[in-house]
Amino acid sequence: MAASSSVARCRGRQEIRAALLFTCLLVLVCRTLSGGSGSCPPRIIIAGAPAAGKGTQCAAITANFGCVHLSTGDLLREAVKEGSALGKEAKQFMEGGKLVPDELITSVVLERLQQPDCSQQGWLLDGFPRTKSQADALTAAGFLPDCFVLLDVPEQDLVERVTGRRIDPVTGKIYHLTTCPPPVEVIPRLVQRSDDTAEKIVTRYREFRTHVDDVAEIYKSTLVWVDGRQEMHMVQACLSQAIAESLNRPSL
Ligand code: ADP
Repeated sequence: MAASSSVARCRGRQEIRAALLFTCLLVLVCRTLSGGSGSCPPRIIIAGAPAAGKGTQCAAITANFGCVHLSTGDLLREAVKEGSALGKEAKQFMEGGKLVPDELITSVVLERLQQPDCSQQGWLLDGFPRTKSQADALTAAGFLPDCFVLLDVPEQDLVERVTGRRIDPVTGKIYHLTTCPPPVEVIPRLVQRSDDTAEKIVTRYREFRTHVDDVAEIYKSTLVWVDGRQEMHMVQACLSQAIAESLNRPSL
C-alpha cells in the first residue's frame, strides 16, 4: 500500500459524536468561506476495492458537501442498460470483472467534468481514475483533487460484503442482508449486481490491487487513508472530517 499522508480513524462512540460535531462545524466553515456561492467547490476522488463501501459513503459526502457524484460504475451500467455504443463495448469487460479500456472511459469522464454543474458545485469522482493512465489524463486536463480518499478494506472481508449486497432500484439505496438489512417492504424489489459473486470479486480485487498504488502515488500530497472496516457511521464521520479539513487547507 502506498504511504499515506493522513490517516483518518475513529475509535469509540464518544469519539464519533465529537467527530460528527467537529465535521458539521468544518462543513459550515467551508461553506461560509466559499460564500455559499460555490466559489470554492469541492473536488474529491474516492478509491477503494470493490464493495469497500464507496457507494454508501458517496451518498453522505454529496449530502454534506453538495458536489456532483460521478460514479463510473453507475455510468457504465446505465450505458449497458441503454444499449449505447459505450455500453456495448464495455459490457464484455464488466461481465468478466475486468476494467474497461482507459480510452473508453476517460473521454466520457472528462466531458462530464466540463459540464456547468461540476464546475459550479464541485465533483466527487467514484471509481475514476482507476489506472495511472486515467489519472495522468485527468491531470493533463487540469482536474486536480483537493482530497484523494482511499477507503481500505482487506480482501477477506470483501467476499462476505459482495455476496450480501443488494440494491434498491427505486431509491438507489445499498443494503447488506446481514450488516445493513433492508426494510421488509423493499425486499421483493431488491436486485443483486451481476458482478457481485464470490468468483468475480477475486478478479475485480486483483484489478484494483494492480493499479491502486500507482494512482495513490500520483495523489499522495492529498491522500487520506480511511479504515473501511469500521462501522458505517464511523467511516462516514472520519471521511467527512478528513474532507472538510482538506477543503479548509490552503491550496498547495
Ligand atoms: P467496483 O468498484 O465495486 O468493482 P464499480 O461499480 O465502480 O464497481 O465498477 C463496475 C465495473 O465497471 C468495473 O468492474 C469495471 O469493469 C468498470 N469500471 C468502472 N470504472 C472504471 C474505470 N475507471 N476504468 C475502467 N473500468 C471501470
